Amino acid sequence: MGLKIFLNGKFVEKEEAVLSVFDHGLLYGDGVFEGIRSYNRKVFRLVEHMDRLYESASAIRLEIPVTKDAFASKILETLKVNDLDNAYIRAVVTRGVGDLGLDPRKCGAPSIFIITDKIALYPEDFYKNGLPVIIAKTRRNHPITLDPRIKSLNYLNNILARIDAIDGGTEEALMLSLEGYIVECSGDNIFLVKDGKLFTPPADIGALEGVTQDAVIQLAGKRGIESEYKLMRPEELFEADECFLTGTAAEIVPVSKVDGKPIGSGKPGDITNQLREDYRKLTQTEGIEY
Ligand code: PMP
Repeated sequence: MGLKIFLNGKFVEKEEAVLSVFDHGLLYGDGVFEGIRSYNRKVFRLVEHMDRLYESASAIRLEIPVTKDAFASKILETLKVNDLDNAYIRAVVTRGVGDLGLDPRKCGAPSIFIITDKIALYPEDFYKNGLPVIIAKTRRNHPITLDPRIKSLNYLNNILARIDAIDGGTEEALMLSLEGYIVECSGDNIFLVKDGKLFTPPADIGALEGVTQDAVIQLAGKRGIESEYKLMRPEELFEADECFLTGTAAEIVPVSKVDGKPIGSGKPGDITNQLREDYRKLTQTEGIEY
């Protein structure tokens, strides 16, 4: 049995899951999305992902024609239809099919699709030895142009940073704001650990408000580890004891080097490892069952 995709109201085979070339999601990146995960037939932080999807949609004045609850139920149904125990879930809403102009009013109903698939895990080496990253030449979109808090289909800013990473021989790139502050990576949030405390950049300088970032702050709190949203210059990376990235797909990844220079000992730190273990337990226990 092939993979079934939920597309505009029905389940179709992967090969038949196609959209019009006039869909503004394709023509202009005009749409929003979420990347979600399930562990042991439980979806992790589904409510938070649905909230962010609807907030992103509202920020681009895209009205999703179904309720949050109905959308969430469709995600659970798609997972069941595909009989997946551990999955990566991609939920997408586009502006819909329009004409060749920009006018969003010319588009018909939004296109909605949900892809559930096996999760492609990051290589174990990243977690054991840490991930080297570079600082991207590409700066993060400024919030007054295209706010990175909107998880839109327009991900070229992130893709350009990923190309910087590839050019620099790494898998991830750290992006700075126009003002030169550390913001986030091309697909993950960033944390520094210094003197037993966590520091992460505030979202209003151009970062996505990460669901994993939030979960990590909560887990740290339970261990009595404080967290602070802070404006940080790249130099502060090299004064940190530890550094790690967070994201739904990556979970928690230690960073070993930035631009070839080691962070802390250059090995995954104790707090990073503790939080990784706490996060793993959380994903195994919490979640909405299907
Ligand atoms: N920043 C960006 C740019 C992202 O695309 C993502 C999601 N891959 C994240 C941060 C991490 O967010 P989350 O923890 O909600 O997956």
